Amino acid sequence: MNPSTIDLLPIGDKRVFVRVDFNVPLSANGEISDDTRIREALPTIRYACQKRAKLILASHLGRPKGKADPSFSLKPVAERLGELLRMPVLLAPDCIGPEVKVEIGRRSSGEIILLENLRFHSQEEKNDPGFASALAELAEVYVNDAFGSSHRAHASVVGMVSHFNTKGIGFLMHKEIAALSRLRETPAKPFLVVLGGAKVSDKLGLIRGLLSSANTIIIGGAMAYTLQLAQGVSVGKSLVEANKITEVKELLDETIRRDVTVLLPEDHVVVPVMQPEGLYVTTPGRQIPDDKVGVDIGRQTIKSFSSAISSARTIFWNGPMGVFERPPFDHGTKAVAEAVAGAQAFSVAGGGDTVAALQQMGLAEKLSHISTGGGASLEFLESGDLPGIAALRDTADANT
Ligand code: AMP
Repeated sequence: MNPSTIDLLPIGDKRVFVRVDFNVPLSANGEISDDTRIREALPTIRYACQKRAKLILASHLGRPKGKADPSFSLKPVAERLGELLRMPVLLAPDCIGPEVKVEIGRRSSGEIILLENLRFHSQEEKNDPGFASALAELAEVYVNDAFGSSHRAHASVVGMVSHFNTKGIGFLMHKEIAALSRLRETPAKPFLVVLGGAKVSDKLGLIRGLLSSANTIIIGGAMAYTLQLAQGVSVGKSLVEANKITEVKELLDETIRRDVTVLLPEDHVVVPVMQPEGLYVTTPGRQIPDDKVGVDIGRQTIKSFSSAISSARTIFWNGPMGVFERPPFDHGTKAVAEAVAGAQAFSVAGGGDTVAALQQMGLAEKLSHISTGGGASLEFLESGDLPGIAALRDTADANT
């Protein structure tokens, strides 16, 4: 059973700790370059304020390596959140300790305090029990609305949860679990999965997890070269994970046994090894010459992939089809984005690069759901659970 959502919890006049994912991208001058993660948390935050909770928000930001580092302060996030809510959001001097407790004590019901970056303490990522109880001491109710962080067994996601009798999830977590569970459990068929990106090793578990529900798996990006090599087709000097060939071969055999169609590129955009910025060409077929590197899917592949995508009724997409950061090697990714956005299907995309491509093209709104978690969405699809959700369920008895 899924944990309770916040609207089922008694939160009025209570100190409510909400773990959010405000790990937003910052530009070189420290400005927030994409505030999607803050906006996505607003429904839970607004609801808790309306119900007159004393709201304690907590998040990590970047990788400050366990030390207080002003360049990873949540100050810009507190300011942005205040602008969006049109109310003051106080930034606490730290995330634990007596000073923080005093600041929380000064808040009235319906007010918000944002704790400073959880990762200023190395114990957060170590799921340290002492740190977890110091966090738990701050509040009476625990809510997890940090989908994008819930695949990590960290103190604010897992360790502190058992300290609470009253606990649950926020509206964003609920929305993410509902969309991804629909893919896992009741996908309208044909269910098509599009995977790309650099590494096949990151996605082998996911592919295995999808064999019982997916009808077709499209694979592009550098991932495809390892599969192509496993089939004995040359890949030139393209990026491959040679140590995964045996595992990939076994997986390909399994897809045949399970009647899952795997679509791989039929042609490739390639560049010379020695002059990667030089002239690019499209290969006439699957083979990549020895002196070339694959950087994108070719025209024929775009046609085949787009056609398969347009006839699907459920779609999940994660990972670019090529080195999309370097136009014109973004053609494949853009074509797939257009096909997914145009499909008459329940469509879900996850992963930073994939979502960025959709947003740049103004297509994100056309999908049924955009996941705020890259790694978390892959792990949930693979196993149907995340450490942050399991922690709420495993300790649910204390609720009753
Ligand atoms: P991932 O984090 O695994 O989703 O990988 C995303 C990265 O894969 C992006 O930075 C892409 O540039 C990269 N990528 C996609 N296709 C290729 C390719 N053909 N060769 C090298 N890198 C690629």
